[in-house]
Amino acid sequence: MKILIKNGYIVSMVSEIIKGDILIEDDRIKRIGHIDCEVDRVIDATNKIVMPGLINAHTHVGMSLFRGCADEKELMTWLQKDIWPVEDKMTASDVYSASMLSGIEMIKSGTTTFNDQYFFEDETAKMAEKLGLRAILSRCIIGDGEEAHKRVAEAEELYNNWHNKADGRIKICVGLHAPYTCPPDTIRRGVELADRLGSPIHIHYLETKDEVKQMADKYQMTATEYLKKANVFNYHVMLAHGVHIDNESIETLKEISGGIVHNPVSNQKLGSGIADIRKLRSNGINVALGTDGQGSTNTLDMFEEIKSAAYLQKVIYQSATALSGEDVMKMATIEGAKVLGIDSEVGSLEENKKADIVIIDINKPHLCPMHDIYSLLAYSVNGADVETSIINGQIVMENRQIINADEQEIMRDCRRITESLFRR
Ligand SMILES: [Zn+2]
Repeated sequence: MKILIKNGYIVSMVSEIIKGDILIEDDRIKRIGHIDCEVDRVIDATNKIVMPGLINAHTHVGMSLFRGCADEKELMTWLQKDIWPVEDKMTASDVYSASMLSGIEMIKSGTTTFNDQYFFEDETAKMAEKLGLRAILSRCIIGDGEEAHKRVAEAEELYNNWHNKADGRIKICVGLHAPYTCPPDTIRRGVELADRLGSPIHIHYLETKDEVKQMADKYQMTATEYLKKANVFNYHVMLAHGVHIDNESIETLKEISGGIVHNPVSNQKLGSGIADIRKLRSNGINVALGTDGQGSTNTLDMFEEIKSAAYLQKVIYQSATALSGEDVMKMATIEGAKVLGIDSEVGSLEENKKADIVIIDINKPHLCPMHDIYSLLAYSVNGADVETSIINGQIVMENRQIINADEQEIMRDCRRITESLFRR
């Protein structure tokens, strides 16, 4: 299948913006420039921005049914009283419907790749396979003893069932919940699994001040020292949050493969604090953007994270130049791909890379006029401006119509499940 995207503003994220065309052949970008050739489909991108799909580098898409169910709660109260008891009652089929809702929400707001950690993760894999999304998935390993042992076995089974499936769009990694919820033996088992499978590790890291205190009280060390001692940093790591990182930890992080995933909306809403992204990036540490789950973030619209990330750095540095629109767009695309270890395949528009592309209609009052494309993307565009989305060379949304699922049916299912779930 050959698709030609004609006459768009091509924002590749790695080279100068040009007005031109992109030829897609099968799953890859064949050529970028001024192209005239026989193709199966032509997409007219006049007055539209053509850019790499956004990368949501940390989320829990099975949590969509928690959207707005218990707002204005402290993180631990929220988890222990409102989230975990309901999660215990969720069935595989509930997680499938919740994931489908999230998948549709992500495609409709420009995300083409997501990095997820949850339970019943097979259901999330089914969703990614069906909707055409690219995904890195992990079964959340948490707790100790037999329970942790069982979760490690499930994580390995997930790998055996799904790694490299759906035309290679689905990858499986090892998901550890967090240093403060995984005792040494659990971390050790997770690291052993990562070693056996040759997988990256995805873990929550220094989200709250309380976590810093818990690590000091329990282990007399920082979360960074704890993970280093357990050899976690010998692997490619995706560290979600990184709000409370001390200077010594920065020295350790400079050496790692992977990076930090900044979730600015969730951190603001739960009152966790503000990660010093500028400091991390100026020390050469890769920083991706993520939404976290809808329980704490409410929507999976990455454009909200993009705006928040830029604004928060300006606030903490009391400087309008603290983080630019261009830099934050890179965090949502190519830098995100680096944190996930997939930058040789996605994250930018380049010949021979996978064709993960979104097209944004800018013929709208709130996007007019255009002085600077990065400013427009970072500060004015929202998820609903994404018109068409292509993943792995396949059109998954065209003119805001989801191709591989019935959006209305999924919303009906989710409303019905939510009613019974919160009463079970
Ligand atoms: Zn999370």
